[in-house]
Amino acid sequence: MAHLAGLANVLPKEVRRAADLDVIDGLILPGGESTTLARLLKTFDLLEPLRAKIQAGLPVWGTCAGLILLAREIEGEPAHLGVMDIKVQRNAFGRQVDSFRQIAHIPTISDKPTELVFIRAPWIEWAGPDVEILHTVAGKIVAARQGHLLATAFHPELTDDSAWHRSFADLVAQSLI
Ligand code: GLN
Repeated sequence: MAHLAGLANVLPKEVRRAADLDVIDGLILPGGESTTLARLLKTFDLLEPLRAKIQAGLPVWGTCAGLILLAREIEGEPAHLGVMDIKVQRNAFGRQVDSFRQIAHIPTISDKPTELVFIRAPWIEWAGPDVEILHTVAGKIVAARQGHLLATAFHPELTDDSAWHRSFADLVAQSLI
């Protein structure tokens, strides 16, 4: 929220019920525990309306657990929203490297290096032909874009760099043209 509030032309709003989806131009699905988030989406009758909005073109950025929610396939369990042509592996980096940071230069996002914070992160095992791979770690995809969908396995909101938020705001702005 702090990153979004600092961006010009962005008015952040929390989405709590399906009606909130009608007044937004883009949505960030945050990190957390994907099974819990999916259960909450169902409990609050948000899962189906959200899927319909995404299929109709609502730009969505999923970070970490949010990425898992977007995936068409999840290793070993049923998908949730199933809207992005990726297969993910949860908690993929294993116990020893449960959480880690990396400095990376990702030219599509920023002309400066940005910090990537991974917390029990998933990785993308495979991505369909329409998915643009933005970054990999140890040969595994950790950031990708498919049209109006952006997915990052890490947490840009935990850094002091707004580059990813700015990039998503640009994606939303493009969808409004
Ligand atoms: N490990 C979590 C999951 O599988 C994701 C972690 C996160 O969002 N930081 O849902």
